[in-house]
Amino acid sequence: MIVAGLLGLAIGSFLNVVITRLPAHRSLWGPRSACPGCGASIAWHDNIPVVSFLALRRRCRACGMSISWQYPLVEAVTALAFAAAWWAFGPGIDFLVATILLSALIAITAIDLRHQIIPDLITLPGVVAGVVANLATQRVPWLESLLGIAVGGGLFFVIILASGGGMGGGDMKLGAMLGAFLGWKVVLFSVFVAVVLGGGLALGLLASGKRGRTDPIPFGPFLAAGGAIGLFLGERIVTWYLSGFGV
Ligand SMILES: [Zn+2]
Repeated sequence: MIVAGLLGLAIGSFLNVVITRLPAHRSLWGPRSACPGCGASIAWHDNIPVVSFLALRRRCRACGMSISWQYPLVEAVTALAFAAAWWAFGPGIDFLVATILLSALIAITAIDLRHQIIPDLITLPGVVAGVVANLATQRVPWLESLLGIAVGGGLFFVIILASGGGMGGGDMKLGAMLGAFLGWKVVLFSVFVAVVLGGGLALGLLASGKRGRTDPIPFGPFLAAGGAIGLFLGERIVTWYLSGFGV
């Protein structure tokens, strides 16, 4: 689990590159990371996940500009997610699939929070990856994976038509991606969790007066959280739910 967590720290560091560069259409593979303030390239010893952020007291070594909390947060969350995936799935291909899905969800969450978009460059390959992963692992039968794309995407398609633009096409593609990975039953559970979490927060913000009725709240982070909860608990909860009805 510790090794999985350390791997998560390293992948989280790469996810920060994705989160910073993908929406700006910059290459993920080069040039090496530089301070956005002064352009000084960042030495390897100042680029160690979480540790460097603390050692530098969240300031660039060259110009003193403050470093975003995004960097250590994404690294720490990815480390925890990878450790949890190891704990839940153990060594094997299920762990690999879980870490791919969790990495995509973490990148999508940060990008949606910062830019209010969910990039097709993650969700569309994600749909294919979900089907391929299930063909390889047999964790979700292939038909349930394909139905998951229809259900996860279709739900949002209906919401977009009904609400006249309250929800974006990015949410629909993320729903389809979750369906491909989790299958149609668990994706229904994931969307339900997302609606409860998102609705709860929206009501809280409205009640506290922090947000008005018309201020948009990105739904991607809630859907990503619902997807992660579905990954870890979905099968068990769906089985429990169905058994309660004698199916
Ligand atoms: Zn700087």
